[in-house]
Amino acid sequence: MNDRSGERREGSLEAPTRHPIPWQDASFYDEAALDKELERVYDICHGCRRCVSLCNAFPTLFDLVDNSSTMEVDGVAKADYGKVVDQCYLCDLCYMTKCPYVPPHEWNVDFPHLMLRAKAVKFKKEGASLRDKVLTSTDLVGSLAGIPVVAEVVNAVNANGAARKLMQSAIGVHAEAPLPKFHSNNARKVLAKRPAASNTDDQIALYLTCYGNRNAPQTVADMVAVFEHNGIAVKLVEKEVCCGMPKLELGDLETVAKHKDINIPPLLKLADAGLRITAPIPSCVLMYRQELPLLFPDDERVKKVQAAFVDPYEYLMARHRAGKLRTDFKGGIGKVAWHAPCHQRVQNVGQKTREILELVPGTEVVVIDRCSGHDGTYAVKEENYAFAQKICRPIVKRISDTKVDHYVSDCPMAGELIEHGVGNGSHATSAFTLLKHAYGI
Ligand code: SF4
Ligand code: SF4
Repeated sequence: MNDRSGERREGSLEAPTRHPIPWQDASFYDEAALDKELERVYDICHGCRRCVSLCNAFPTLFDLVDNSSTMEVDGVAKADYGKVVDQCYLCDLCYMTKCPYVPPHEWNVDFPHLMLRAKAVKFKKEGASLRDKVLTSTDLVGSLAGIPVVAEVVNAVNANGAARKLMQSAIGVHAEAPLPKFHSNNARKVLAKRPAASNTDDQIALYLTCYGNRNAPQTVADMVAVFEHNGIAVKLVEKEVCCGMPKLELGDLETVAKHKDINIPPLLKLADAGLRITAPIPSCVLMYRQELPLLFPDDERVKKVQAAFVDPYEYLMARHRAGKLRTDFKGGIGKVAWHAPCHQRVQNVGQKTREILELVPGTEVVVIDRCSGHDGTYAVKEENYAFAQKICRPIVKRISDTKVDHYVSDCPMAGELIEHGVGNGSHATSAFTLLKHAYGI
């Protein structure tokens, strides 16, 4: 009676599924096949237009269509297809939050991974500019800029208007875009000096990430303090390099594979020992939870590490449900705007940061689940800075209009762009920092 098999439906009601990315097959790089698939998917998107507000990729596509002679996708020059691709930073929001045509729907639309394929084809053919190579080489840049004295010089240059204008004209990094500060006293060094945790009944492994280690050591230290205060011993991953997300966004999949081969063995050792693994940056967690398993579907080690990775707030809430999270807070937080970053939202873990913050009595959380527009390296590029500002503006307006005591983002990079937009000298902070203060530690 209720069997609807065989019946055509507009949009799928099933949970989205994801196909492995066949990036090691020669056909993945077939330009004619790629153009055909871009044309097919662009045509579906043109007929739908549901994602117009998410980023600048869709407005770019729809403008190309609307300004073409036919006002259809067949009127758009194939040479312009890449203009859409360049505006996609693989946040995955269109796939996870908007698109009714994702698999298992027969139209099989995976817009982000089609963009990834187009980026990979372009990278294989043309390589990357000096700027893009520098911006995505986070380990190399961080290890040089994180050297004592050099860190101070780099930070001073990055804050100097004249130097930034030179940087813009020389390599195309926008003069006004906020750049991360480098800390020679990195998180690994800061954590090495902390006293040994006592009264722990659980243990978690921490993948510091290149950004967490060199650019956000205080956030990492606050995160560790909250974990240890709750009886969770934190074991640092012995050896790590960048998760590869910046190289993924560039389409440089061979380098993603190299990073994976360095990172997986030490992570696997921890997973095999029964530890969950977490990280302070949602994009890096997503890399292990989603992108690497799709890029390397036959690698059993990647699958084991995938199963071990967990969002830090998701982990704390699981502990709370088990009755093992401390709620003896000494102080309040007040009204806080919480920005949920895209790469955390698409992990499908729910609003765990909000739930944790609301455990502190008297806390009011204003949820802002919009893209910040930072997205790794996108916002700092000369040609994208204005688009990133436009994407971030609704978040900035909401914070300014709501008159909050604090604003936080679970992505420190997004936090910096939001802070830059708010522009009143206030600072974005981390939910871990607020929790640490609420615990009185
Ligand atoms: S993945 Fe994100 S940036 Fe890319 S097209 Fe979708 S919403 Fe836009
Ligand atoms: S990605 Fe899906 S929801 Fe978004 S415009 Fe295209 S078809 Fe519509």
